[in-house]
Amino acid sequence: MPIGFFRTIAQTTQADYCTAPESELTVSLSALLDAVRPQTKIVCVATPGNPTGTHIASDQLRDLRAQLQSDTLLIIDEAYCEFLSGSEPLFDLADHRNAIILRTFSKAYGLAVIRVGWGYFPLHIAAQIRKMMNPKNISAASQGAAS
Ligand SMILES: *Cc1c(COP(=O)(O)O)cnc(C)c1O
Repeated sequence: MPIGFFRTIAQTTQADYCTAPESELTVSLSALLDAVRPQTKIVCVATPGNPTGTHIASDQLRDLRAQLQSDTLLIIDEAYCEFLSGSEPLFDLADHRNAIILRTFSKAYGLAVIRVGWGYFPLHIAAQIRKMMNPKNISAASQGAAS
């Protein structure tokens, strides 16, 4: 999600948040790590970014995950990842570390109207998210289209 979306979600949930300055429209991992505090629970990045289109290399994201406290959740929004060639999937980060990978059918598939995205979550996080889901979350038609 673009920073505006991250900010809106933080405000909606009344979470304290801060943003890290980018360098030439690109996420600066050192600025991001400088902004992280001991009480930071979640770090969100979008790659490629919207509207910048700039990409964070997989090894940098692995580095970022490694440098965060183990109980800090890293959310990697990959809404535009299908437009990148040669990028290495990061699903293993969610298998072994505190990380979530988010994708959407809205962009590469042109299915914004069905309002479906998907995420790759560690099992313990998926169980927590399921508790918060609206029972009317996604229509059967949308689920069918996404499937
Ligand atoms: C479009 C977009 C999303 C979310 O798309 P949905 O239509 O809500 O599934 C998330 N992140 C980024 C960076 C986007 O551009």
